Amino acid sequence: MTDCIFCKLAAGELPTNKVYEDDEVFAFHDIHPVAPVHFLIIPKQHVDSLAHTDDSHQALLGRMLLLAPRLAAQLGLEQGFRTIINTGHGGGQTFFHLHLHVIGGAPLSPNIVELSTH
Ligand code: 5GP
Ligand code: ZN
Repeated sequence: MTDCIFCKLAAGELPTNKVYEDDEVFAFHDIHPVAPVHFLIIPKQHVDSLAHTDDSHQALLGRMLLLAPRLAAQLGLEQGFRTIINTGHGGGQTFFHLHLHVIGGAPLSPNIVELSTH
């Protein structure tokens, strides 16, 4: 997808604050962090959303999920962190390249659902 910003970030075509990279996965700090630590884990391959995955993505999804605690520990989130995948407009997704949010570094409310006012 040539017009996808996250594809361009993963390909190094746009500058970003990288957390991690391997042959399949890229992680970078969110440009608008909602907590002291807020980064995104994405597949290098373009996938619109979690709703666009199938059995062929099983290893990739596992890899993304397994990276979350590893990278969180590297960034000092010993007290814990939250992972979020917004899926579709109804799920609050605004960038349609699958991404796993990892958020922490401050106490987070147990209430993970905040309804949009618009
Ligand atoms: P969504 O609402 O789709 O789950 O989250 C998209 C996230 O991508 C938002 O938290 C937003 O701040 C982040 N984001 C959007 N554009 C950029 C960008 O160009 N660079 C970085 N680092 N983050 C971005
Ligand atoms: Zn993309």
